[in-house]
Amino acid sequence: MSHADPSRLSTRARNRLQVLDALRSSGTASRADLARKTGLSRSTVSGLINELIADGLVIDRDETQSAGAQGGRPGALLSLDRSAGTALAIDFGHSHLRVAVADLSAEILAEASERIDVDGSAGRALDAAAELTLQVLSDAGLSPRDLIGAAMGLPGPIDRATGAVGSSVILPDWVGIQPAEEFARRVGAPVGVIVDNDANLATLGEARFGAGVGADDLVYVKVASGIGAGVMLGGRLHRGAAGSAGELGHVLHDPEGEICRCGNRGCLETVAAAGPLVRLLGRRHGPDFTTATLVQLAHDGDVGTRRVLVDAGRAIGRALADLSNVLGPERIVIGGDLGAAGSSLLDGIRESMARFALPAVLGSVDLLGGTLGGRAELLGGLSLVIGDTERLSSARMGVAR
Ligand SMILES: [Zn+2]
Repeated sequence: MSHADPSRLSTRARNRLQVLDALRSSGTASRADLARKTGLSRSTVSGLINELIADGLVIDRDETQSAGAQGGRPGALLSLDRSAGTALAIDFGHSHLRVAVADLSAEILAEASERIDVDGSAGRALDAAAELTLQVLSDAGLSPRDLIGAAMGLPGPIDRATGAVGSSVILPDWVGIQPAEEFARRVGAPVGVIVDNDANLATLGEARFGAGVGADDLVYVKVASGIGAGVMLGGRLHRGAAGSAGELGHVLHDPEGEICRCGNRGCLETVAAAGPLVRLLGRRHGPDFTTATLVQLAHDGDVGTRRVLVDAGRAIGRALADLSNVLGPERIVIGGDLGAAGSSLLDGIRESMARFALPAVLGSVDLLGGTLGGRAELLGGLSLVIGDTERLSSARMGVAR
C-alpha cells in the first residue's frame, strides 16, 4: 500500500487549505469570490473545488439546478459540508499527551491534555491517547466514525517507510510498535493515522498558522523535555533518510559532559532542555520545582531563572549558528515549554548567533518566539490530515496507516 509522505504539505495542499479557510470565513462563496479572496487563479480554484466536492467536503448549492456543476460555473454558490467529517490530532511529548478534534477548516471543536510518562510505556501511552480521544469526541458530540483521519506526533525519529519509531535509543519502548495501527485498534475505528515527529508537526503548525507564516526556509526549535527541530526548505519539510533530521538536541555541546539518554556524551539536551534547568533551579527552590514553576518565575522576572535561561539560550544559539551557516534559513522560530518562558532564552540564542553565525547569515534570518504555544503540534497535525487529498481518500477506504 502506498501512503502519502506525511511530512509534506505541498503547494496544492496549502492552496486547498486556503480555499477551505476562505469558505469557512464567508459561509457561502462562488468560485470567482474564492479566487479573489485567496489570490489564486480561477483555474486553480476551480480544480481544487472539483476535488473538494468529489471528497465530499464542499457542497455546490446550485448543483440540483444545473447538470454542469462539476464544470465549475463561476457564479455557482459553494459552502463547506459540515457533516463531511472531523479531523483528530494527538500530540505526545516525553511527558504529556494532548488531543484535539477539529472541523475540516481546522477550527478546534474540543481538546484535552494530561501529563503522562510517554517514554516509559508505549502501551500505556497509547491506551491513554485512545481514552482521551473518546473523551474529546464525546465533548464535541461526535463518535470515532465521524473522523476522516488522524495525525499523531511522537518525540522521536519516525521511519517514513514503516511508520514506526526509527531509533532504539530515544524512545526504546516504542521500537517495533506500529503506533498508527495500535491507536486505530484501541479507538475501534478504521481511521487513517499519520505518524510524524512532534517537532515536524509543530513546524507545520507554526508555518501554517503561527510565527512561520510566509517563510519558505524555516527552522522551528522545540525546547521542552527534549530539544528537537523541524527544518523546512523551499516550503517542504526535510525529514532525512531515516526520519532523523532535526535532532538538534543531540548535537555535541561538551565532549566531557553528562551522558545523554541517546547514549552519547555532552549532547545539547544535557544542558539546555527542561530537565537540567529544573534540576539546577531545584537546588534553590526545592524538590517540587517543575517546568511550569520555571516558566512562571521567568515571567515574574526572577534573576536566577533568567540567568539559567540565558545560558541555555547561549548553548542552543551556538548549535543554531552552525545550522544557520549550513542551511541559511530566513526565519527561526523557538517554541516548546521553555520557548514560552519569555525573552531570556531568546536573548541567549541571539547572543550566540551574533557571535558564531556568519554576518551574511545573521543579516538574513529573523529569530522569533512561536505564537501557538502547546497547540503548535496539534494544529500542524490537523493541517496534515485536512490538506492531504491522497491520504484522505485512503482514510475513507479504512486503511489504518
Ligand atoms: Zn543525545
